Amino acid sequence: MFWADKLLENRKGKEIINDSWTPSGIIHMGGPKGPVLHDVLFRVLKERKADVSYMFGFDDVDPIDGLPADLLSSHSKYMGVPLFLAPSPDGAGSFGDYFGNIMRKAFGLLDVQAEIYKTSELYKNGTFNKAISFVLDHARQIAKVYEEIYKKEVEQPWFPLQVICPNCGKLGTTKVTSWDGEKVGFSCEPDLVKWAQGCGTKGEISPFNGTGKMPYKVEWPSKWWTYGVTIEGAGKDHMSAGGTHDVAAKIYKDVFKKEIPFGFSYEHFLSHGRKMSSSKGIGVTAEELLKVLPSQIYRFLLIKTPPNQAIEFTPFGTDLIPKLYDDYQKASEAYFSKKGDDLSRAFELSQIGGIKKPPSVRFSVLAQWVQMPNMEGEIRKEGAEVWAKYARVWIEKYAPESERFLIQKETPPEVKSLNTTQKEYLKKVADLVSKDLNAEDFQTKIYEIAKEMNISSKDAFAAIYIALLGKDHGPKAAWLISSLDKDFVTERFRKI
Ligand SMILES: [Zn+2]
Repeated sequence: MFWADKLLENRKGKEIINDSWTPSGIIHMGGPKGPVLHDVLFRVLKERKADVSYMFGFDDVDPIDGLPADLLSSHSKYMGVPLFLAPSPDGAGSFGDYFGNIMRKAFGLLDVQAEIYKTSELYKNGTFNKAISFVLDHARQIAKVYEEIYKKEVEQPWFPLQVICPNCGKLGTTKVTSWDGEKVGFSCEPDLVKWAQGCGTKGEISPFNGTGKMPYKVEWPSKWWTYGVTIEGAGKDHMSAGGTHDVAAKIYKDVFKKEIPFGFSYEHFLSHGRKMSSSKGIGVTAEELLKVLPSQIYRFLLIKTPPNQAIEFTPFGTDLIPKLYDDYQKASEAYFSKKGDDLSRAFELSQIGGIKKPPSVRFSVLAQWVQMPNMEGEIRKEGAEVWAKYARVWIEKYAPESERFLIQKETPPEVKSLNTTQKEYLKKVADLVSKDLNAEDFQTKIYEIAKEMNISSKDAFAAIYIALLGKDHGPKAAWLISSLDKDFVTERFRKI
C-alpha cells in the first residue's frame, strides 16, 4: 500500500493538518518535501471526502541566528532580531517575507494547496494570547517537562517566553524573569547567546499582541491547542528521541492535557551522503531544480519513496535526472495500465490540474536530440517540446561531459587517429547520405556496410562520431547524420 494511504488507514473524523517552516534562508531542493508530503495526505483525505483543512505556517518571529554568506555584511546587525522585523535583502517587506515569497512561488508551482499563515500575525492579532497566558501560568509544569527529558534542572526564574526588546529590537537576547498575570518582567542580556548581543535594558511589558514569542518547543503545542491540529509530521532532526517533537508532545500531553496529533517523520535529501544544506552550499536549490524538472516530476521525486527513507540525489555530472524521468514514465505506464501499485499511486498523486500522460520518448534521447540541428520536427512529433526545454537545461548544467556533444564546424583534429579502413568506411557512408533513406533504414545500412568491410561496428561508429563530433561516442548515428545538412556530411566524410 502506498505510504500515504497506509498512514491514514485508520483515521476518522475531522482533520486539521499543520506544517511549518522558518523563512530564514535559501530553500534547497528538499525544502518543499514537508509541504508536499502533507499536501499528499491532504489530497488523500479529500479523495475520501473527509472534512479536512491544511494550514502551513511561516515561522517569521524566530530570531535571525545565522546568515547566508552574501548577507553577512548587510544583515549582521540584525542578528537576534525577529525575521518579520528585519528588512528584506531586496528592500521590499521583511527578511521573512523575502524567503517566504520564494517558498510561496514553489508552493504555486508544486500545487501545494495549504493555507499559508505568518506566525507573526498570530502573535500580533491576539490569536496566541490565550496560549501565552496559559504557558506563563504553567511555567513550572513546562520546566518540569524539560527537566524530565533533558535530565537537567531548569534554572529559576524561568518562563516560556522571550520578548522583543523595546530598546534594541532583539528577541534572541531577552529573558523573562517574572509574570504577574498582566505583565512580564524582562532583561535584555549582553551574553545570553553567542550569535547576538543584548543591550542590557530591563523593564516590564505586556506579553500579548506581538510583543513576545514562545520558545519553539512551547509554540508548537500552542499551535496544536489553538487550532486543534490533528496531523503534523516533521523532519527527522525534530523527530529524534529527545528532540523538539518529544518535548512539544510531552508538554501537550502533560500540561495542556491533550492528545498528541498524529505524527510521522521524514528523512532528508542527501548529496554525497551529506544532508543538503543551503548555508553550506551542498546540493541544489528548489528554484534551480524547477528549471530542469516539470513540477509533476519534482512532486514525484518527493513522494515516490516512503518519507522515512533518505534519498541520495547528486544531480551534477550523473544520470540521476534522466533516470528520474524514466521512472516517471514507468510510473505513468503503471497508472494507465491500472496496475494499482505504489508506483501508479505516486504518479497519480504527483499530478497537477488533471492527469497528464508524459511523452514516451526517453529523456536521455531528447537530451541528444536537442543537441542536433533540425530535430524540432521529431521533438514535436513526440509531443516533447516542454521536456526538450528541460533537456537543454540538463545538458547545459548537469550532464556528464560524455553526454555533451557539439557538431564540429571544421574537421576535428581527432580524425588523425582514424585508420584506412575507417576512412574507407566513411566514404561509403557518404555515398548513402544522398539516397534519402529514413533513419531506421539508414541505421541498418550502415551496420551492413561495416559487416561487409569486416570492420567492427564499434570502430565503424567511432569513425562517424570522430568525424562529426571529435569524440568516439555520440547519439544514434543514423539520427545524428539525418539531422545534419546532407552536403555538409558528404563533404566531411569524403575529405577525410
Ligand atoms: Zn535590548
